[in-house]
Amino acid sequence: MSEEEVIKSARKFAVKNALDYGKARPDNVINKLFVEVKSAKELGISRIKEIVEEVVGEVNAMPVDQLRKEAESYTYPERPERVGLPKLDWADGVAINTRFAPNPSGFLHIGHAKVALLCDEYAKMYSGSFYVRFEDTDPKTKPPIPEAYKAIIDDLNWLGCSISGVFRQSERMELYYLYAKRLIDEGSAYVCTCEQETMKKNREEGTECACRNRADDDNIREWEAMLSTYGEGEAVLRLKTDMKHPNPSVRDWVMMRIIDAEHPITKNKYRVWPLYNFASAVDDHEMKISLVIRGIEHEVNGVKQSFFYKAIGAKQPHTIEVGVLKVRGTLAHKSDIIKAIKSGELSGWDDPRTPTVAGFRNNGFKAAAIREYVISSGIGKNPSYLDLAKLTAFGRKQEKW
Ligand SMILES: [Zn+2]
Repeated sequence: MSEEEVIKSARKFAVKNALDYGKARPDNVINKLFVEVKSAKELGISRIKEIVEEVVGEVNAMPVDQLRKEAESYTYPERPERVGLPKLDWADGVAINTRFAPNPSGFLHIGHAKVALLCDEYAKMYSGSFYVRFEDTDPKTKPPIPEAYKAIIDDLNWLGCSISGVFRQSERMELYYLYAKRLIDEGSAYVCTCEQETMKKNREEGTECACRNRADDDNIREWEAMLSTYGEGEAVLRLKTDMKHPNPSVRDWVMMRIIDAEHPITKNKYRVWPLYNFASAVDDHEMKISLVIRGIEHEVNGVKQSFFYKAIGAKQPHTIEVGVLKVRGTLAHKSDIIKAIKSGELSGWDDPRTPTVAGFRNNGFKAAAIREYVISSGIGKNPSYLDLAKLTAFGRKQEKW
């Protein structure tokens, strides 16, 4: 092995690396070089680093057409098969449908992109459908931003997701009413008119309230009143779960409540809105979702929803709970971003300093790099902070973060 051989190999992989990712990186080149020139280590790692850094510097100064021309003169090893996401042992040859359920109260954050990409990947792996379902049934505390609906779809398309269908929960209200009515008729749900404080106390103590044991006819009348005359905070619809469940939040959780706020899509058509667990479970069942991927913070929601599936006699979809992908810095939360946009500190949701998908795109990152990053991070339950160096290694056009 000669030094010349090492320089040649470094040059060859630096050219490919620069073409693949816009800029060659010494680490990537060294890894490839060691595979090709097995005895390179004899030169000593510090000498190899020197060589590679010099070569990378030269290559990164070359124009793209020259890089392409030079690449044609080399033979590159076949790309090894990508180590993808873990196989699902329960899959059993059937198509797997997944869904991504964003809230259109903001643009797509990189953390949401993780869940979306995992859903899209699994649907592709198992020839199923990948649906997008907007969770927009809380016009008061999470008011939808009309332009976010389109922006989120644009971002998902840019990320390379194959969307089989797009749904808005605010347009599926009649379906939730149907399920609510059915569960009331069957004695599995009831209208509770207790004061919020009483409900909280009962729940903590595991005590059933009088509403729970009301006669069926009275319960139906109360439901009709909830739809027409009761005001916000005066009545809620609860699912009968288990008032002695070890987790008090699971005890007869609230399915629907009254909200007096105009919705940007349905305006004032509806006052009784479903809460997350009810709407989500109805939709997952109706849309034949077989795999639900969601953040670990939703773990208890899986337990809550199991009572809904029991009540309707259906099978609960398989669930994978994944660790949240977070971003360091002052713009970590949606509320921080909204504040910074309002104050003029950021130019918008797609400002390159924003940890939204649009921000990353405007900052020069490639969709393929974000996907590779997510897949390589896997489906573990531990939260993680975005490793910018690692993402950059997967490919980015420019360094201006
Ligand atoms: Zn009650």
